[in-house]
Amino acid sequence: MSINDWIERGGTPAAPGSGRLRPLGLREVTLRPGFWQQRQETNRSASLAHIEHWLEKSGWLGNFDAAVAGRLPGDRRGREFADTEVYKLLEAMAWEFGRTRDPVLDRRYRALVSRVAAAQEADGYLNTNFGRPGQAPRYSDLEWGHELYSFGHLVQAGVARARTCGDDELVRVAVRAADHVCAVFGPDGIASVCGHPEIEPALVELFRVTGERRYLDQAKLFVQRRGHQVLADIEFGRSYFQDDIPVRDADVLRGHAVRATYLASGAVDLAVETGDTELLAAVTGQWRATVARRTYLTGGMGSRHQDEAFGEDFALPPDRAYSETCAAIGSVMLSWRLLLAHGDAEYADLIERTLFNVIATAPADDGKGFFYTNTLHQRVPGSEPEPDVLVPRAASSLRAPWFAVSCCPTNLARTFASLAAYVATSDDDGLQLHQYTAAGLGTTLPDGRRIGLEVETVYPRDGRIAVRVTESPDTAWPLSLRVPPWAAGATLDGRPVTPGWARLHRVFAVGDVVVLELPVQPRLTVPDPRIDAVRGCVAVERGPVVLCAESVDLPAGVSLDALFLPGGTALKDDDGTVVVTGRPVGPPDAGWPYGAAAGAPGPDVDIPLKPYHRWGRRGPSTMRVWLPVTDS
Ligand SMILES: [Zn+2]
Repeated sequence: MSINDWIERGGTPAAPGSGRLRPLGLREVTLRPGFWQQRQETNRSASLAHIEHWLEKSGWLGNFDAAVAGRLPGDRRGREFADTEVYKLLEAMAWEFGRTRDPVLDRRYRALVSRVAAAQEADGYLNTNFGRPGQAPRYSDLEWGHELYSFGHLVQAGVARARTCGDDELVRVAVRAADHVCAVFGPDGIASVCGHPEIEPALVELFRVTGERRYLDQAKLFVQRRGHQVLADIEFGRSYFQDDIPVRDADVLRGHAVRATYLASGAVDLAVETGDTELLAAVTGQWRATVARRTYLTGGMGSRHQDEAFGEDFALPPDRAYSETCAAIGSVMLSWRLLLAHGDAEYADLIERTLFNVIATAPADDGKGFFYTNTLHQRVPGSEPEPDVLVPRAASSLRAPWFAVSCCPTNLARTFASLAAYVATSDDDGLQLHQYTAAGLGTTLPDGRRIGLEVETVYPRDGRIAVRVTESPDTAWPLSLRVPPWAAGATLDGRPVTPGWARLHRVFAVGDVVVLELPVQPRLTVPDPRIDAVRGCVAVERGPVVLCAESVDLPAGVSLDALFLPGGTALKDDDGTVVVTGRPVGPPDAGWPYGAAAGAPGPDVDIPLKPYHRWGRRGPSTMRVWLPVTDS
């Protein structure tokens, strides 16, 4: 599809040149009031301005002005990668403008772009942290310097603008930066990679926008080089930045979870554009192994705080879940690319799980606070962060307005702004619905036939999804609806359907309504016994939503940590809230927590279970997803 076609369709994040499925544009899918539209609207109306405010306040935007005025390094603020938060805000604004064409937003965007553009050097280099007298030389610290990572986000922002508006100042800045990268890191240049992947998917996306083969070739070089110990060894080992094993030889994602998912996303992009089926198969296998052995019930990835990394297989402690918000976004990016390449519903299944249980969890209701990490078990109530104070370290307890490392808020902003892209796809002759939310869809198939749908649902509160046809040719076409793996007993127009794809291939008339019923009654979920940290526990899920218990819902004096579920406990539905019976078991009255018998059980109490994505919104509390079961 040409860039002009994409501009007309409102652009889309990740537009592969081939694959089983074709993404829709942001103007082809409109979220209607409901679960996701509310979050997208909060992002538009509150988070974007909140982020811009903090970028000014923290001085990270001012770094660009200081570069122009020759006040660096003296006036440099923030970490080495602070520039990227400005780029991610610009990307979010670009998608948002593609969707809404809001002129006020466009003015804010252009004002920021002019400050960024002014700091670009004559040869295309742009980074406020390197290369000036008194600063470290360019590319002197590929392990930790994040220069190419930074270019990656700059290029992604440029791609977003190009796909939604066409050429503009940011697009030209991004192209000059990418040309600089190709010149410096090309076949005869520095034979290394960046400690933080991101330039890889960005360059492939720029290739897709411009048709310039050199960007694809450069992405290929970066993917080929990594894994051959081109970076120095570090305290976390080279697996931290995936430089331990070549991408095509690895069998599971490992190391820093954001880096791993970004790299894998870039590798899929590269494989798709070059027809490298071996590379695509390798990353597909890594995805499968990671989902099977290294992913939390919420879809969260990364269980190690020390290096923000994947742990070993089945090392998924709930109370030490790092589960960074950005890793969830990286996981969605990867799954989305595999979904487009292969067309299998399982990738959309993981996207749904991750959206409802990590990405919906992270932002505060007002869009001005964020979780960086997403624990599954909060043992100690947190303290309320000040609304105007930067939090030095990622904590799980309560959503904070801004962090010293503030990758997650800007990552959420660009994801919510482009969220409509993940709802549906088309292929040569039909349409596929992947995520269920109230939405209006209208697209033109490659053969020129127009299709329009209106999806009416309050999912996930209710499992009824009505798809009304608003535009259709008078010839048959296939409509495919994803049936999640938990939806045993699902029906389509009253007929039983099984998990995977439910497909209707027929002539549709305007006004036809297709009804998918997904049973969303609560269900008990048991973990693989090899996940030792939650062996003997159960969790409760309702449709795609993971539930949790929170201390603010318990009677006074009852500690969440002392509660067990009696074996065979039933799930009661109390006016929409799932309730289980909890039995407080007193801790052993001893000075040594081993070998002593537990105290006598107290009287049973009701434990209301609420969606995990709602936790931590009613003040400091303790919380747990996994509840231990006892026979006593
Ligand atoms: Zn982050």
